[in-house]
Amino acid sequence: MERIEESRLMDPLKPAEAHVVLVSPFTGPVVPLAAVPDPVFAEGLFGDGIGIDPLVGKLIAPCDGTVMHLARTGHAVTLQSAEGVQVLVHIGIDTVELNGEGFSPKIAQGDSVRRGDTLIEFDLDVVACRAPSLVSVVAIANSDAFEVVERAGAGHVEAGASTLLVLRARGGVVPGAIPEHEFIADEVRRTITLAHAGGLHARPAARAREAVRGVDARVEVRYGERKAAIESVVGLLALGAGEGVTIELVGIGKEAERAVNAVAEELLREAAGEAHEVPARAPASAPAPVTASAATAEPGVLAGVCAAPGVAVGTLVRWDEAELTPAEAASNTPAAESRALDKAIAAVDAELDHSVRTASQRGAIGEAGIFTMHRVLLEDPALVDTARDAISLGKSAGYAWREAIRAQIAVLGKVDDPLLAERAADLRDLEKRVLRALGLSNTAARVLPDEAVLAADEFTPSDLATLDRSRVTALVMARGGATSHAAIIARQAGIPALVALGDALKQVEEGTQVVVDAGAGRFAYTPSAADIDRARNERLRLAGLREANRRSSHEAAATRDGRAVEIAANIATLDDAVTAVDNGADAVGLLRTELMFIHRQAAPTVDEHRQSYQAIADALKGRTAIIRTLDVGADKEVDYLTLPPEPNPALGLRGIRLAQVRPDLLDDQLRGLLAVKPAGKVRILLPMVTDVGELVRLRERIEAFAREAGRTEPIEVGVMIEVPSAALLADQLARHADFLSIGTNDLTQYTLAMDRCQPDLAAQADGLHPAVLRLVAATVEGANRHGKWVGVCGALAGDPLAVPLLVGLGVSELSVDPVSVPSIKARVRKLDYNECRARAQNALALESAQAVRTASAATWPLD
Ligand code: PEP
Ligand code: MG
Repeated sequence: MERIEESRLMDPLKPAEAHVVLVSPFTGPVVPLAAVPDPVFAEGLFGDGIGIDPLVGKLIAPCDGTVMHLARTGHAVTLQSAEGVQVLVHIGIDTVELNGEGFSPKIAQGDSVRRGDTLIEFDLDVVACRAPSLVSVVAIANSDAFEVVERAGAGHVEAGASTLLVLRARGGVVPGAIPEHEFIADEVRRTITLAHAGGLHARPAARAREAVRGVDARVEVRYGERKAAIESVVGLLALGAGEGVTIELVGIGKEAERAVNAVAEELLREAAGEAHEVPARAPASAPAPVTASAATAEPGVLAGVCAAPGVAVGTLVRWDEAELTPAEAASNTPAAESRALDKAIAAVDAELDHSVRTASQRGAIGEAGIFTMHRVLLEDPALVDTARDAISLGKSAGYAWREAIRAQIAVLGKVDDPLLAERAADLRDLEKRVLRALGLSNTAARVLPDEAVLAADEFTPSDLATLDRSRVTALVMARGGATSHAAIIARQAGIPALVALGDALKQVEEGTQVVVDAGAGRFAYTPSAADIDRARNERLRLAGLREANRRSSHEAAATRDGRAVEIAANIATLDDAVTAVDNGADAVGLLRTELMFIHRQAAPTVDEHRQSYQAIADALKGRTAIIRTLDVGADKEVDYLTLPPEPNPALGLRGIRLAQVRPDLLDDQLRGLLAVKPAGKVRILLPMVTDVGELVRLRERIEAFAREAGRTEPIEVGVMIEVPSAALLADQLARHADFLSIGTNDLTQYTLAMDRCQPDLAAQADGLHPAVLRLVAATVEGANRHGKWVGVCGALAGDPLAVPLLVGLGVSELSVDPVSVPSIKARVRKLDYNECRARAQNALALESAQAVRTASAATWPLD
């Protein structure tokens, strides 16, 4: 019913009676609304409509009308036709972020325009390079009053010449000038109950704010006596609206109803992927975070919460002693101070953007999320506007910024919520970053002795980014929780850390020799000589063990009774390849290629693929590399791929399935892979294979490319076992594959139906679950029937309690983090293969992952 016939497209000027016709405002291919790569449009939050991928940088009027609204940044315009249709035309996705760069509006708000008039010119190259997508949208902002009865089908439309949409007034109302007041919803109210784990925290708040960007309405959120504008994430946090509470949304303006609904939708949405908002799991041994002072009965000892395990002895250094104190009075004009603040904020934003990218490249998703959140806070009007007000009153940029931050921290402090207290730490971090960008420094605090135990009220991520980690032996904090961002970073950096030691920590003098036993939650500030000796011995023992493991890490690993197990490394970059070689990896068991290409504007060319893999193959000095083809989708996103939104991405177009819609991406990668020299050193690994048909097709494709390139050497092709179907059909897959590599991260997620990105399930989503182990056993059995080997490249391979069981089930290659190679080799050398086999069979009969862990630890205690 909805396709416009060819003849109509050719003659757009003859609509049926009582219909309103919109011609295309752009030239380019049509994109169905649902395929527009932005859920806000794709889900129709701006109204029904259609997308176009513009090939020419010109937006023309789709009908006669009046310019109701022109975005300040020139990237979007809303026209009202004589019949009352409100047409929003939005160029590209997230283009408000370009802040006007590349857009030249030719009209002003209130202008009358004729169909075909140029409204906005835009620089295609600038927009294409800077925005996530050029796909543009024509949406009927008052879709409640007009319905789309026909729309252009797939194909190309010409600006001004092709009919794009035909509309009809709803409810049989004969179109005519609709009085403007009918569209002005003076006030819309809606009450909702928050379903998010953790309530109205930063991420849902940020998403709600995004959902109404560009909508012509103001939304206020009210909770009890408190209220906050939707633009202010800090203000929303300060409402203190926890999980399960009821809040009221109040919208005012022409598009109030849509704005309120969009906010409600975001806030009601299930808290999927809220990795940094819901309290993350503390390390296994840590008790729940506490914030109170925790002096113990033991004299000279404070009790804290373990944020990162380990033992340390060192000299206490106060990290936060000297604050950055900007002068109150401005030394320049308010305009100059304001510019300085803008520049500093822009510099910090760029710094944070860089941190997000590097953290994502390292696969440190948690860390990337922290810095993304800081970027959101950095543009909060509650901060920026307050600072500007202070500047206009003659304060310096630094002082104004500091006071604006402190005012918000004071507001958050009134809300009794430990997660919000952690957001206050994020604000303190932004305070420091911007003050540093304004030129204030406090270098004295950065001269560290060897073995420094750094103490602070609470560390911020930027503190940890700038300090000399080689001199820091431990971190101790008076406040904070095991879920604080600094704690996450300390864990990733391997620095022992204790939090929530309380105000008593502030009484411990700088220069005191202290002992930190993070695992035991102890901070001893008057340690006896015996305490110090014991701690040093334990630290030495652990360091000695690491060193001994390293010394033998360049030799192959085998069990005591001679079963060889290859210990390979999982890598994502050239640097990782070097680390893998340094740590004695026998090979690379998994190169996650998507991480090499995530932040690009376009997919890599064949030659770029070849060069990247060749560099890694060279760095491996003769070791083989198993290179996995692009595994994007679900939790792994790449900038240049705007895939249509999926209701359930983990079950959607990911891994090898992507080739169904973008075969070109895989073809280029395979050609690049096949060109790496020497030919025998590279093996291809296919992710997310479900059954043998996929493998056979891909194998044929690979062989065709090899012939095309004149390659005569065979290429080994392996299959990842990440889906239960693949494990169950392992014998069929092994017939056509050269090897199988079990991805236990996904195999666990799909076997137990537990999202691997959901921190609340992290404890249960354990790869040592007997169900997962039975699939490992089935995989090995299937592979054995065809004489093929099986490796494990999921995180389970590097879990010391899993190693004996995987070996016992017949796995002959374990691919682990490069730094874990020495300890996993050492672990294998202590095993007896026959014992592993027997115990592994017993483990298959156990009833829970915990039972398996307990049994494994009893037989093979941890070092
Ligand atoms: C896995 O799923 O176990 C795996 C190794 O792949 P990734 O973690 O990259 O999805
Ligand atoms: Mg996987």
